[in-house]
Amino acid sequence: MSAEEFEVVYLGTRPCAEGVASFRFSRPEGYSFTPGQFFALTLTTNDGVESKFFSHADAPADAAIELTTRLSGSAFKSALVDLPRGATVTLSGPRGRLGVPEGADSIGFLTGGVGITPAHSIIRDAMQRSSGLDIALIYGNRDESCIPYGEEFRGYAEAGTLLYVETLDHPGVDWHGESGFITADLVRRHVAEPAGRPWIVAGPPPMVDAMKRVVADLGLPSESVSYELFAGYGPNG
Ligand SMILES: Cc1cc2nc3c(=O)[nH]c(=O)nc-3n(C[C@H](O)[C@H](O)[C@H](O)COP(=O)(O)OP(=O)(O)OC[C@H]3O[C@@H](n4cnc5c(N)ncnc54)[C@H](O)[C@@H]3O)c2cc1C
Repeated sequence: MSAEEFEVVYLGTRPCAEGVASFRFSRPEGYSFTPGQFFALTLTTNDGVESKFFSHADAPADAAIELTTRLSGSAFKSALVDLPRGATVTLSGPRGRLGVPEGADSIGFLTGGVGITPAHSIIRDAMQRSSGLDIALIYGNRDESCIPYGEEFRGYAEAGTLLYVETLDHPGVDWHGESGFITADLVRRHVAEPAGRPWIVAGPPPMVDAMKRVVADLGLPSESVSYELFAGYGPNG
């Protein structure tokens, strides 16, 4: 399906500390997407009219469209933060081909921070539909103050429906999970046969570059790994 333009209503935001927040918009009539796809959002900013891409963080059956992003202080992000509830903005989508490969019965994700958005959409959709997809999520964040969707993922892990590994670069003293960056060794310790499933890597350029090294260290066949580069974030992510 090619991208079409829709008017959507801004419904509200949910902050996640450390300058990361989720923003919700009404789901327009006639709009459908596949988990993993993204859309363009157009806002009037202090620098003029600007459009930016965001992966769907919501699942298709959710009541609202959701994006999760870093509040960088850019003109676009300031306009997003300043949107009054009830404002109408333009969304164009769906776009992209990222998703669970056709016929796959398992999938793995290597991601961190705001790069979680397509994984969240795919995982939430699989859980809502009880699809039985065998999912491994390896998820890195800076510290406990903001692990986007972490509580939801822990719930799935406790229910036995998600192999969930969270690791922090700067864990606090009470942290009982993994610490440090995602490495091939960390993946091997948790996932029995990493080469036995397709993988998805998504996020800002520094995250994707780091995960490419992990993919190489794991010796994953290149055709089994899909990438979504959040182009637009700078070299520092
Ligand atoms: C397919 C796709 C999916 C995406 N999905 C998401 C998503 O789910 N969530 C998300 O947050 N983003 C996503 N993005 C990226 C998004 O479109 C934006 O590019 C990103 O959020 C950065 O926008 P910004 O307004 O914060 O930064 P911009 O103002 O566009 O700046 C870009 C970068 O340059 C840096 N920068 C800006 N000004 C300066 C300066 N003067 N000096 C030095 N550095 C500077 C900023 O820190 C920033 O990292 C996606 C992109 C693509 C292509």
